[in-house]
Amino acid sequence: MSEFLEMKRAERLADQYAKIGRVEVIQTIQARGQSFPIHAFHIGATDPTLPVLGLVGGIHGLEKVGTHLLLSYLESFAEQYRWDEDLRERMKSCRLLVVPMVNPAGVRFDTRSNANGVDLMRNAPIDSGKGPPFLLGGHRFSRRLPWYRGIEGAPMEAESQALCDFVRREMFPSRALLVVDIHSGFGMGDRLWYPYARSADPFPRLHQVERLAEILNRSFPNHIYMVEPQSLSYTTHGDLWDYLFDEHLAKVGPSGPVFIPWTLEMGSWIWVRKNPLQAFSALGPFNPVKAHRLKRTMRRHLPLLDFFLRAIKNHGAWAL
Ligand SMILES: [Zn+2]
Repeated sequence: MSEFLEMKRAERLADQYAKIGRVEVIQTIQARGQSFPIHAFHIGATDPTLPVLGLVGGIHGLEKVGTHLLLSYLESFAEQYRWDEDLRERMKSCRLLVVPMVNPAGVRFDTRSNANGVDLMRNAPIDSGKGPPFLLGGHRFSRRLPWYRGIEGAPMEAESQALCDFVRREMFPSRALLVVDIHSGFGMGDRLWYPYARSADPFPRLHQVERLAEILNRSFPNHIYMVEPQSLSYTTHGDLWDYLFDEHLAKVGPSGPVFIPWTLEMGSWIWVRKNPLQAFSALGPFNPVKAHRLKRTMRRHLPLLDFFLRAIKNHGAWAL
């Protein structure tokens, strides 16, 4: 198995969580003669119909800060779980499922795409029409260019397929489902995006999005997040969450259980503005390079993940 900082932390967490939850390897990726397990952490109740919060990171390997945030969250959660009886009680009636590094080879080799040159967040078999920006929105020209979608009609990449299968198996049976998928690299501010990525079509769960946003705004009036549809920033082909959302909606119908896939897009341009030289390194545009800024980023977003966990447990307050 490939040894690198993030994988070592994930392996250490896997040992820890074997005692307080369940850890599953949903796929093992082979790249450059090394193997890369994709870990999924199961915490809390096991009844699949109970409400679920899914946390996902590292779909784009370069955007390591998302993986770091989830590893930090898991480390902190394990510590709290030891002494906080209320937390253990809460987890009896909901489930927390965390996949902190969907694209481990990308994290290891500092690439946005997986080892086959495919951008996993452009890899779902859905087209967006003419809207998306050239290249950035996903393309099929060459795997040497970023945002490559893969060959038309080919099966999905092993990482995207493993994530979709995991979401279908573990999350779709739930009576209420929130996912937060963590990315970085776009814009000055921190955005909480809801679907669609493919077009400006109204999101069918807009009502629940608005109620949840209202709870966030009223409870934490000084929060830093811009809550908006992804299509307001740009549209893309092949978005995995659009794909999964549509499939879920077709299955459960408009009056069925709610599923909102959020994207936390951490605005990285501010890190670059404060430390312009990092714009010239491979990782710089996507991550806080300075140690104090990394710490601040962890502090900044951990409360949001706690908010989502409480929001899924109390889904009656917004999901009906
Ligand atoms: Zn990303």
